Amino acid sequence: MADGWHVLGAGSLGTLWATRLARAGLPVRLILRDETRLSAYNAQAGLTLNEHGQRQTFAIPAQTVSADQPIQRLLVACKAYDAEGAVAAIAHRLTDKADVLLLQNGLGSQDAVAAMLPAARCIFVSSTEGAYRDEDWSAVFAGQGANWLGDAQRGAAPSWLDALQQAGIPHQWTADIRQRLWRKLALNCAINPLTVLHQCRNGELSAHAEEVTALCAELGALLRRAGQPGAAEGLLEQVQQVIAATAANYSSMYQDVAQGRRTEIRYLLGHACATATALDCPVPRLNQLRLRLIEHLSARGLPCD
Ligand code: NAP
Repeated sequence: MADGWHVLGAGSLGTLWATRLARAGLPVRLILRDETRLSAYNAQAGLTLNEHGQRQTFAIPAQTVSADQPIQRLLVACKAYDAEGAVAAIAHRLTDKADVLLLQNGLGSQDAVAAMLPAARCIFVSSTEGAYRDEDWSAVFAGQGANWLGDAQRGAAPSWLDALQQAGIPHQWTADIRQRLWRKLALNCAINPLTVLHQCRNGELSAHAEEVTALCAELGALLRRAGQPGAAEGLLEQVQQVIAATAANYSSMYQDVAQGRRTEIRYLLGHACATATALDCPVPRLNQLRLRLIEHLSARGLPCD
């Protein structure tokens, strides 16, 4: 297992990655939060991937954070708000030259984890693949996409990318992962909160074109001020394309709120607004959107961060 994969969090993306690695015959271990979850998992035949309507179960061994096996390569597949705490619980198991892949959406959680692990190589991942849990220990592969990987130091690609190739996990190494993450964050800020506030599918935002355009103007100015001019280029056009191409879909934030789940607001719109404040960049529309969203979440008893 010296060169194997440990996957922290067996939710939607954790299952999608772990099952594809296992299917390719690569050594994988799941790390679950506690003994209760481990017992529940061990009562099943394994982790199931539902792809093109076909269900396939993989008997991937699991352990809790308190196992003592050293970890050389860790895939963190928790939500952004859980990542730092979950990694802190197993940090002592990481080897001197460990690689830590961070799958979290938005920005903020990756730097918090990296600051905690100065000896590890933290690799940020921006994923446009889609998966959701149809039941415990089972995920549906709902959308083909891409995975962009890179580190904050603009380092060279690691040799284990071959393993992703072998597992059929689409991937691309990039020297500028922050640009990718900022762009995805900006797309999210321009679309997702509005779908929650207007209670609508993505396509219905075409009726709120003025609001979307104004948000994109502020986001573009913020990205340029944050040293990410590449992420600002053609933002409005891409937002309009996404709205048209996913017209029938409900955004991930809409679905989280509709199902009473905590959102990742702090790492998306929250991170944009906090960065704007730190850089003294005026973003009144974004700030107002954030306050409206917080009000909406709090009225439903959901966490506001
Ligand atoms: P998810 O389905 O909610 O899965 C998160 C998993 O993390 C759960 O299984 C949870 O365990 C586990 N977890 C939380 N704290 C833990 C701890 N301390 N120790 C061990 N496990 C812990 O979330 P997801 O949809 O896979 O999303 C993960 C990240 O990927 C998010 O940042 C999301 O925005 C991003 N992302 C997701 C998708 C997608 O299509 N799903 C696409 C792109 C990006 P329990 O099962 O015990 O609750």
